[in-house]
Amino acid sequence: MKLSSKIEPAEQIRVSLKERSYDILIGSDLLDAAGTLIAKGIETSKAYIVTDSNVSTHYANRLISSLNNAGIENDIIILEPGEKTKSFKVFEGLLNTIIEKGVERSNTLIALGGGVVGDITGFAASTILRGINYVQIPTTLLAQVDSSVGGKTAINSSSGKNLIGSFYQPKLVLADLRTLETLPERELLAGYAETVKYGLIGDSVFFSWLEKNGENLLKGEQSYLIHAIATSCKMKSEIVAQDEKEKGERALLNLGHTFAHALESEVGFDNHILHGEAVAIGICLAFNLSTNLGLCPISDTERVQKHFRSIGLSVEPPEHPSGEWKIDAIMKLIGLDKKVVNNHPVFILSKGIGSSFIADDVPLNEVRQLLENTFLG
Ligand code: ADP
Ligand code: ZN
Repeated sequence: MKLSSKIEPAEQIRVSLKERSYDILIGSDLLDAAGTLIAKGIETSKAYIVTDSNVSTHYANRLISSLNNAGIENDIIILEPGEKTKSFKVFEGLLNTIIEKGVERSNTLIALGGGVVGDITGFAASTILRGINYVQIPTTLLAQVDSSVGGKTAINSSSGKNLIGSFYQPKLVLADLRTLETLPERELLAGYAETVKYGLIGDSVFFSWLEKNGENLLKGEQSYLIHAIATSCKMKSEIVAQDEKEKGERALLNLGHTFAHALESEVGFDNHILHGEAVAIGICLAFNLSTNLGLCPISDTERVQKHFRSIGLSVEPPEHPSGEWKIDAIMKLIGLDKKVVNNHPVFILSKGIGSSFIADDVPLNEVRQLLENTFLG
């Protein structure tokens, strides 16, 4: 009768952060085992599920049953889907709701959803009663390979994306591949861009594997998904274990992101451009910049663009919703990036596929020139 006890994760990855260490479990149908898996590792008297209305339609009942079966009392808060949810206003409402429900220190927040739900729930967990347990159940490819690993939590400021937040590690991450079956194709592709990022940063063998198998992965083949998610999570967890608070090497994970965040902010965090789509464009800009600076062979830059195109990700910016991209505005947003040091933005550049590095001395006129050629050319 209790199916959940038979469900085993296909992969288990430890994120080693001393007393904040935790496991990422990857597998099929883990959602139905969530209650047992949570009860095994975390003492919790009650769980608050935070999700969005799309994800709850598909998966809330299964998670609730699983928690009930494991004897974990639970409640659910359903947010609006979309990046606009990561606002002060929604954050305030979420905190007040959970506090009014009588939350206690021994309770756990469970983020059931994509990056948006994960980011705001993690931030809520880090601030409610000065910090309560939280568990991530990422349901987008993007969240499974990236945003659910490493403890970055965030909401958006009116000046830019993710500028407010904290580093706060979950107690457990459960990535259930089968939840990707209902994910819209556009979202799956956007998450794929973030997967490719790992190959480009430090694993050329993984990039070659993606060139060969990306198409099957995107068709939902479980073994391919497991390999890609596990490889990405392993790389991220190793980097995070070395540099939890991004004082150094962790910044490599931002390949393409200085540009991506500026593009997203410039179009106003709506569905015009998804984060992963902006990352694909941002990665191509970073490779082009590296090539223009004489650092990266043009053949590698072309190979990256070819792969993105071949699986259906655009490498050129979309039209601006108001008709015209403004280079000054993008440059200003780049100057507001979290990685700015002494007023100078930091870029992640590339010496070739699998070999990224952090550069704090990129001439801004080169950046402007590249943006003009790309956006106005
Ligand atoms: P990201 O992880 O890309 O930051 P979001 O949290 O913004 O993603 O989720 C992207 C969109 O996909 C949202 O509209 C969300 O409600 C929806 N979504 C998330 N996971 C699933 C899923 N497994 N099935 C269907 N829709 C989903
Ligand atoms: Zn990202």
